[in-house]
Amino acid sequence: MNTSALASAATHAVSLASAVCREVQRSLEKVRAITKDDKSPVTVADFASQAIVGKVLRDRLGAGVVLVGEEDSKWLREEEHAAHREATLAAVRTVWEDATEGEMLDAIDIGAGDTRHAGFWTLDPVDGTKGFLRNQQYAIALAYVERDVPAVGVLGCPNLPRNFQADLDRPDRHGCLYTAIRGMGVSETPADDPGAKPVDIRRLDHAPDEAISICESVESGHSKQDDSARILEYLAARGVTSRAPARRDSQAKYALTARGQADAYLRRPTKKDYVERIWDHAAGSLEASEAGCFVTDIHGHALDFSHGRGLEKNKGVVCAPPRVHGMVISAIEALGIGRAG
Ligand code: AMP
Ligand code: MG
Repeated sequence: MNTSALASAATHAVSLASAVCREVQRSLEKVRAITKDDKSPVTVADFASQAIVGKVLRDRLGAGVVLVGEEDSKWLREEEHAAHREATLAAVRTVWEDATEGEMLDAIDIGAGDTRHAGFWTLDPVDGTKGFLRNQQYAIALAYVERDVPAVGVLGCPNLPRNFQADLDRPDRHGCLYTAIRGMGVSETPADDPGAKPVDIRRLDHAPDEAISICESVESGHSKQDDSARILEYLAARGVTSRAPARRDSQAKYALTARGQADAYLRRPTKKDYVERIWDHAAGSLEASEAGCFVTDIHGHALDFSHGRGLEKNKGVVCAPPRVHGMVISAIEALGIGRAG
């Protein structure tokens, strides 16, 4: 099957999963009341999103589809989680009206595929769970990895405004959805209207006299924020000005950099042995590289998707248009960031 057909199926899947996540977002209190658990809305959205993506991919691409999802249904099948099951089924039924509990659980497990295939899908059903719970930025991230390289990436950002002036910490009514095909670019549609005319996203390189704006995780446990400050200080000493880092959850950071609203997405490991998961980077890195960014780890090495579910050979991420990417990698090297000792 050609990549355009795969991208069309993936866009369909992610737009429906985005609608389901929005529905859970609208009924946070109701979900919490059913499950008697404060974090349950994100658990429910995670399972419901994965069920929908699994079902759409299988319906459109056939039973042989291989999907490596972050979730499996074991926990949800347990007797004591009946309330979560009920809330998940209610969410799933907003777009898959006649789904039964059994069909929903089986659809979640379509995501139990493994990476030892020449081509497989990888999914983060709700990336940025903390952002989801705060009703800020989160993403549904789906990518097709073909012979170890992301070939199609779809990123649904249901709370991301298209308007650069809008407050990113407030949920947008429409959201944005990005579809990238390797070598063919990346386009944007409203997340709630994937049939709308897509707009091509291609960012300019950063202009030398402009202050650099970087984005990084909200969670200090996910990216070493002190290191961003050190990098910006290093650049400042060389006459490169910057703004205070913007902190956002999820792969929306790749989208912000791809569309030119940020000049870099930095992710610096906080723990020596943390291995980045493929579903946290496959879709987002393709959006950004197709928009004209370089995406590497902090040492300038390409992200290597050939080691199963983890980016075993990489440390952190630097995503930026070429000029900024070069400056950041040089700063990291000069400061000895990420080197032993
Ligand atoms: P973000 O929203 O960019 O902070 O990233 C969210 C993702 O961080 C989640 O999907 C997790 O897979 C991932 N994550 C969890 N623990 C860590 C960690 N210690 N370092 C980096 N990423 C992590
Ligand atoms: Mg994630």
